[in-house]
Amino acid sequence: MPTTMIAYVEQQRRLVSDGDAEPSDGGDAGQENIGALDVAAAAAGDIALAARDFGGMVFIPPATLLRPSTTDDVVRAVCVARRSSRLTVAARGNGHSVGGQAMARGGVVLDMRDLGPPMELVRCGGVAADVPAGALWEEVLEWGVRNHGMAPTSWTDYLGLTVGGTLSNGGIGGQAFRHGPQVANVAELEVVTGDGERRVCSPSLCSDLFFAALGGLGQFGVITRARIPLVPAPKMVRWIRVVYKGFEEYAGDAEWLVTRADSEAFDYVEGFAFVNDVSDPVNGWGSVPILPGSVFDPAKIPAESEPILYCLELALHHNHSGAAGVDERAKEMMWPLRYMRGLVFAADVSYVDFLSRVGRSEEEARANGTWATPHPWLNILVSSSDIADFDRTVFKRILRRGVGGPMLVYPLLRSKWDPRMSVAVPESEVFYLVALLRFIAPREGDAALEEAVAQNREIIGCCRSKGYDFKVYIPRYESEADWARHFGRDWARFVERKRRYDPIAILAPGQTIFARAEPPAAAP
Ligand code: FAD
Repeated sequence: MPTTMIAYVEQQRRLVSDGDAEPSDGGDAGQENIGALDVAAAAAGDIALAARDFGGMVFIPPATLLRPSTTDDVVRAVCVARRSSRLTVAARGNGHSVGGQAMARGGVVLDMRDLGPPMELVRCGGVAADVPAGALWEEVLEWGVRNHGMAPTSWTDYLGLTVGGTLSNGGIGGQAFRHGPQVANVAELEVVTGDGERRVCSPSLCSDLFFAALGGLGQFGVITRARIPLVPAPKMVRWIRVVYKGFEEYAGDAEWLVTRADSEAFDYVEGFAFVNDVSDPVNGWGSVPILPGSVFDPAKIPAESEPILYCLELALHHNHSGAAGVDERAKEMMWPLRYMRGLVFAADVSYVDFLSRVGRSEEEARANGTWATPHPWLNILVSSSDIADFDRTVFKRILRRGVGGPMLVYPLLRSKWDPRMSVAVPESEVFYLVALLRFIAPREGDAALEEAVAQNREIIGCCRSKGYDFKVYIPRYESEADWARHFGRDWARFVERKRRYDPIAILAPGQTIFARAEPPAAAP
């Protein structure tokens, strides 16, 4: 994209007069300088886009949207903000946050998607990819498999997310029990910290910054490049779903599967709760079969079953075009499981198709309008000791009619999360990701949104009042007390890292953790 210089000051005046941004004192040299930055700036329509995100519930206009193509562009933007009296900078990955986390009121949003240089294969002990932070995971997959037959080991379910965006949160999927989340699968980062410095960090070089940035909610620096280890990509995946009538058997089997030795483990373990009903097209029986045309036979469900059932989702990698070997392996690994015989769904699909499966749901959601409506999503990490009570209270009572989208619930292992990283997880070794991925149908409108938000509040309130060992994943809090509670004993470390790497709190203001401070006094 050619670099254009657009004086955005005009735009900013309009925003100020709309009352969207803080009043300008008209004499802020830093703010005016940004108009002269040699960084590609977006047109007005695109700036409005940066005021929205996938959640569709908050609208926070920035002063400008810049499209850095190099790390130097990011450095320049951060330096200008730093010299100003109030500008902030938010990196925007693909805007898939749901609560304005990638927004900057009256500040600078950096659209990371154009950042270079292109992906590159590096040999550093093993094989890795140097990836610009604005790359989507689906681009990493396509590039790695097509050009090198290699791929990262840990994925999110949906790949339309950026590398920098998921590394700022965690990056959880069905491989995380075995390989760790995406934040545990990084060899090196390049980061532009809030003091405008470009730093390369790794577990052995500037390690505090490296671990701070992983799960750091964008607070300590803009990640511009990540080095992601690669392994040979399998060709095929045996994708299996089995159904449970009771949570106890479901959770027991899932925990048994995620704690097996690697040589006996599946390559992927996830699962979800669903409504025991045919009439719910999104959360009901129809959400279980893998292939179109495959039928869910309700006669296999005992009459006394509860309103919520559970589906364990498994995958085994293989490289065979014939299925004989993998049939045997799958059979052997599944025989101890206590699912309802007769409710088994399986398919052999290519590795790329398996990892791209949620992209197909995205197409459907775009077609029926639910991709564009608000998404009051809630992700919580709940310890294994509390999950049975959570099931009784939340799935079977509050959510017994579903959420209009997937209700994921599957176990992860704390030992796969390096405690030096910023991300907050429960105390217990086994904890569950509970993801309530709500979609609101266009006809349902504001009442449905309000009900969903109220339910989310009720669920969090319930986790608190019952004293569960839990953390919100991809959190959104407004008060310092809530953030301090979220990070618990690591709060002091989080604050200290902020002071060290972004001392006047320029970065990621949409997380509403720290308030922007005055610039440092100029040297006499
Ligand atoms: P954004 O939403 O644009 O940014 C998120 C935060 O990170 C913001 O604070 C932003 O300022 C900061 N940030 C972005 N880029 C950088 C950077 N380069 N350097 C520093 N800070 C940065 N999560 C999972 O873990 N597993 C899943 O399976 C999963 N599936 C999802 C499916 C869908 C359809 C959606 C919408 C979200 C899903 N998520 C999942 C959540 C996802 O991880 C978050 O939305 C995350 O924010 C990544 O999205 P993004 O790349 O668009 O980042």
